[in-house]
Amino acid sequence: MNQNDAGLMEVQFWGVRGSHPAPLTPDYIRQKIASVVQRIRPADVVSQDSRERFLATLPEDIFSTPGGNTTCIEVRPNDQNLFIIDAGTGIIELGRKLRAGTIPNQEIHVFFTHFHYDHIQGLPFFVPAYNPGVTVHFYSPEPDIEFTLKDHMKHPYFPVTMQDFMTKKLVFHTIPTDTPIKFPGDVTVIAHQVRHPGRAYGYKVQNLDRSAIFVPDYEILQEDFLPSPEAESFFFGADLLVLDTMYTLGEAIEKINWGHSSFSIGIEFAHKMQVKNLYLFHHEPVNDDRRMYTNLRSAEWFAQRMVGKKIHVFLAEEGKIVRL
Ligand SMILES: [Zn+2]
Ligand SMILES: [Zn+2]
Repeated sequence: MNQNDAGLMEVQFWGVRGSHPAPLTPDYIRQKIASVVQRIRPADVVSQDSRERFLATLPEDIFSTPGGNTTCIEVRPNDQNLFIIDAGTGIIELGRKLRAGTIPNQEIHVFFTHFHYDHIQGLPFFVPAYNPGVTVHFYSPEPDIEFTLKDHMKHPYFPVTMQDFMTKKLVFHTIPTDTPIKFPGDVTVIAHQVRHPGRAYGYKVQNLDRSAIFVPDYEILQEDFLPSPEAESFFFGADLLVLDTMYTLGEAIEKINWGHSSFSIGIEFAHKMQVKNLYLFHHEPVNDDRRMYTNLRSAEWFAQRMVGKKIHVFLAEEGKIVRL
């Protein structure tokens, strides 16, 4: 992600999978290439232009992939703050991309929705945290955040510890829920508790009139459709909602109490909260790319039929940048 224009919020997805990483298999890559070759006609390869036109016609599940890394999102609410939501394996590539000039005031703020493996397993490989000139702030409403993070980076799980090898400028913050935390340039972050085994939180990042909400793990149930002042003040009217929509409705019914939502319930919930743009997120790792884009088509159809043009539904894909 490049330098922001003043006042423009940017969100970039670095890891979009739930539960565990899902790299493309050699077999699957061969299938994708074979599907491309089958589609080529002689006229498609006569010039650079015809090749580009041909590539543009390929379905996204063949020419692209939503990505296999676990949860990590970069948020730049303005040019003064760098926020990261969760440290799944997506944070590893983000860390490699961050250069001194791309870290405002040499400060990075990492917010944890919870500490399940898929949300922390990239942290030991986050290169900027080993730079002594960088300050890394860690946030969670959980009081034992410092113990939890330090405890997962030690022998026999990992060869080096946070306290001996990462920057000495690690700061651990236990923050209250449903309370705005202020950052430079009229930016606030609010944590809100959601239903998930062992508790999880969502985060809302607000810059003046723009708001983006990140809720990677959340099992939405019937009672979430009842009036709730806290939930409404957190979710209502958001420009962007990145939401756990791991399942189809049938899978969610089968996997009740597993802690995740379906895209259809997610769309109904986002509609109730008058969210403008919904990103399907925390993708089921056993779903192949074709299945994920099929789910997206079903979600678009459902949104059209159920709630009309009031909500835009997208699939979170690695590398995608959203500007608000
Ligand atoms: Zn998860
Ligand atoms: Zn979880």
